[in-house]
Parts: sequence; structure tokens; C-alpha cells
Amino acid sequence: MDYFPLFFDLKQKPCLIVGGGTIATRKARLLVKAHAKVFVVAPEIEQELQALVTKSGGNFLFEEYREEHLQQKVLVISATDKRALNEQVAGDCGKRNLPVNVVDSPDLCTVITPAIVDRDPLIVAISSGGEAPVLARHVRTKLESSFPGTYGELAKLASEFREQVKNAFADGEMRRRFWESVINGEIAEKVFSRNLPQARTLLQKKLDEKNTKTEGEVYLVGAGPGDPDLLTFKALRLMQQAEVVLYDRLVSEPILEMVRRDADRIYVGKKRSDHAVPQTQINQLLLELAQQGKRVLRLKGGDPFIFGRGGEEIDLLAANNIPFQVVPGITAASGCAAYAGIPLTHRDYSHSVRFITGHLKEGKVNFNWQEFVEDKQTLVFYMGLMGLEQICQKLVEYGKPGDTGAALIERGTLPEQVVHRAELQSLPQLIASREVHAPTLLIIGDVVKLSEKLNWFKK
Ligand code: SAH
Repeated sequence: MDYFPLFFDLKQKPCLIVGGGTIATRKARLLVKAHAKVFVVAPEIEQELQALVTKSGGNFLFEEYREEHLQQKVLVISATDKRALNEQVAGDCGKRNLPVNVVDSPDLCTVITPAIVDRDPLIVAISSGGEAPVLARHVRTKLESSFPGTYGELAKLASEFREQVKNAFADGEMRRRFWESVINGEIAEKVFSRNLPQARTLLQKKLDEKNTKTEGEVYLVGAGPGDPDLLTFKALRLMQQAEVVLYDRLVSEPILEMVRRDADRIYVGKKRSDHAVPQTQINQLLLELAQQGKRVLRLKGGDPFIFGRGGEEIDLLAANNIPFQVVPGITAASGCAAYAGIPLTHRDYSHSVRFITGHLKEGKVNFNWQEFVEDKQTLVFYMGLMGLEQICQKLVEYGKPGDTGAALIERGTLPEQVVHRAELQSLPQLIASREVHAPTLLIIGDVVKLSEKLNWFKK
């Protein structure tokens, strides 16, 4: 190890920044967060920096640096672009054994600043010892996405209850188990969804009962249309936390790969005519697993509340007081449209968009077609492949111009995506002549015509 990592208590401590530009300002922001008293010396000082200094209780001097500026300081940051000056500052600090950081010159530093993930009071610091700052920042980005923004609140809650928990559990091991069940369960999730009062109540109750068990919980998570990059941070976090996952056919393999390795996987997929696991059974299974104290992930394609029967799945849980949360996902319409270069609305071509199920009932699609043929709207049919011919025919029959743009997007957002583009009147014929793989989404409206120009993903 080239550097010894430590955290420095700078509250009300005088720190000097040499330099008055953008980088100095950035450093000052961080020092102010740590409640340091910031002093700045430079011939010119940015407005924001001046304000920061004043706020911190320090002061600024419009003059060249001199050694006496170091007096009484506990930390010095040299943020100038003049090498000779930086060397002078570093040298003067060296004589006084005063910790000094020179921006972008690791050779002149006695202390270096890490990349940080700030979930105050929880701080994660990452350093490459100045060797590969881009790499350190990359790790930081990864960590940023795995801790919700409200993680610090959890630390504050833990600190609030620390004494009480210590008194309730004399045994260290039991205490650890108690905290783990708090951090891994419903209470933490309440904090993350910014429901602090309820988190507090639950924590108090758990403490009164001396309960160290993790409560069961269900996460109904939208996994998006297929590209794993379209997952939300929250989806990813819960995917890595769950002990058992129920998934169906629409969840792509690369996304499943991101679920916690040792989680049990249960396939409950449905194919068009072959219902692998009936819906009521899925609902029941979710309930039973949660009642066993498991953290259950119900992973669904797209968004769970858009043709996803999400409402039905949580109904039984709500009736049985099982905690659950719903995480929205990018629905197929948004995903496919974006990856096919079809803006769903457009000031010139479409002022509204409808999501419609094209699912056949007894071989038919029944709608109030009149509503669908009005001008300047985009129609998106989910599950529309079987009914494609009927849908297109009916729309033309009810007066939609035959040359309206129409596209069938196959396996949208995945590397295998294909966009079959035609006009409303000719799309069925085109599709009949091609081999098409599920899932597919049908988009109808003049916005489709823009995709020739706007398709960035795949031609
Ligand atoms: N809850 C999902 C929809 C489930 S219904 C969502 O919000 O996206 C299943 C239908 O979604 C499929 O028949 C298909 O029409 C559409 N679909 C889902 N993923 C798709 C994809 N990657 N490409 C094209 N269509 C998709």
C-alpha cells in the first residue's frame, strides 16, 4: 500500500486553498461539506468560491501565496496551474510536516483525495493511489448505482437506535443478527422509499419483540424490454438482494444473469396458448414464499403495471399484509420505439399515444375502432402478432388512411431486434412473407415514417 487510508475530522479546522479557479472551487465545496473553515489565497477568486469561503467562516485574500499563509492551517490544497508555485507550496508544507495535496501532481502530494460515494454519514472512498484516477471513478460509478441515494438515512436511523439495541441485546452476535435483519429487510426498504416514520415504527416494534428474523417481502420488478442496460438502479439492487426469483419468458437471459447468483430460480413463464403456471398459482406461490420469510423477486418483462398483471399479483399480498414494493420498468412501447427511432409523440405527427392489448379473445379483437382512427395519434399494440391482420384491416375499414406508417418490432432492444416497416395496408402481407420471432410490438401512426431517418440502433 502506497498510502494509508484515513478519514480526517476537519470540523471548524482552518484549511488553506492556494488558487481561485474552478478546481479550487471544487475542492472548497468538499471542504465545506466536511464543515472545515476554508481560507483561499489567489490574485483572482471565482465568485462561487468567495461565497463558499464566507459560508465556511474562513476568509479569502486577493494576493500571491506566501509561506506565512500556512500558519495555523491543518491541511493545504494547492490548486494552481503553475508548477513552480505548486512546488513552492509543497516544499513549504514539507518543512512544517503539514499535509498537502497538489491537484494533478501526485509527486508533490503527501495526501491524496479519493473518489467518493457520499451517503453521509456513510462515505465510501476509492483511490488508485493517483495511478489511475479514471479507473477509480469508474468503480465509484458502479458503487453509486448499488447504494440508493437514501442510504445515509439508514445509517442515521441505525445511529438513532444504537444505544437501545445495545441495551436490548447484550450478546454481540445477536446484536449483529438484529442489525443484519434490519439492513436486509423491510425496514431498510422503507427508508429507501423515504418512509422514515414507518421505518422507525417497524424498527421499534422489532426491537420490543427482540425479533432477529428477516421478514418476507415481495419485490415486483419491471425488468424492461430486454436490454439489461435499461434496468433501473432500484431493480438491480433488489435483484441482487432477493433469495428467490420468479420470472417468465419475457425476461432476457442477460438480465437473469444479474440476479443474485445463489437465488433460487422459478420459471413461471407463459406462452401464448400454453399457460405454464396459472396466474392464481403464481399469486399463491408469491404469498407462500414471503410467508416463509423469503425475499422474493417477481421479475417481469417491461413494466409490471402495463399488461403485466402486476395488480393481480400484489392483491393477495396486500390482503395478507405481506410487505411488497413495485418497481417500474421501461415498457416495451418506450423501449422498442426508442431503439427503432420512432418517437411515440411528435409535435407535427402525433399528439397522443395509446397502449392497447391486441390479444385475441375467441379469435377476435374487439374495440371501439372509431376512436383509434382519429388523426394524429400513435397506436401501440402489445401481443398483437396473432391479430395483426385483423387490426390493420379494421383500422382501414374504419377510415384510417391505408398509407399510415406501421411497424412491427421484433425482439426490441435486444441485439436480435428487427424492425419490419411498411404502411398500414401492406404490413400484414409483408409479415406473412417473413419469419418473425416473438416478442413483437406493433406501432401504427405517421411517427413510424420518421424511423428511417432516426433509427440509430439497427437498420
Ligand atoms: N409488461 C410488459 C408487457 C407484457 S405483455 C411491458 O410493459 O412491456 C407482452 C407483450 O409485450 C408482448 O406480446 C409484446 O407485444 C410486448 N413486448 C415485450 N417485450 C418486447 C420486446 N422486447 N420487443 C417487442 N415486444 C415486446
